[in-house]
Amino acid sequence: MQMTKTIVWKNLTPEQRDKTIAENVIGAKILTECKGELGEQAISPDGWYCLTCGHMGAWGDDSTHEQIPPHYSTSIGGAWRIVDFFRGTYDVDVASALFQYDVAILDRRMHGKQYVATANTPAEAICIAALQARGYEVITE
Ligand SMILES: [Zn+2]
Repeated sequence: MQMTKTIVWKNLTPEQRDKTIAENVIGAKILTECKGELGEQAISPDGWYCLTCGHMGAWGDDSTHEQIPPHYSTSIGGAWRIVDFFRGTYDVDVASALFQYDVAILDRRMHGKQYVATANTPAEAICIAALQARGYEVITE
């Protein structure tokens, strides 16, 4: 029997949630030292940002930084990367209701096995359903 891995969603910070999605849903390895090229911040000539991950710093400071994953759990643009990632094998339905967002992910390979999640934002609902589709039990209360 397959072991179910449990994630207690409410105990994770947004950064931890994004990292969990990157590693366990997308399958991306987060670099402990990002090698992204640095560009100059448009708003501040004293600052730099990483062209790969968006990390920001000040010129003169050490530019060594851990790669920031996309904001899967806090921005719909970030969450939509998950939807696009699942295309082909899964159908992803996002529904807005009066007090919540409902997401259903259907696995077409598994005769339409369905993973459903409800959250206050569409990004969170997408993240939670995606983790379920990857075999995680996600505790949200
Ligand atoms: Zn970076």
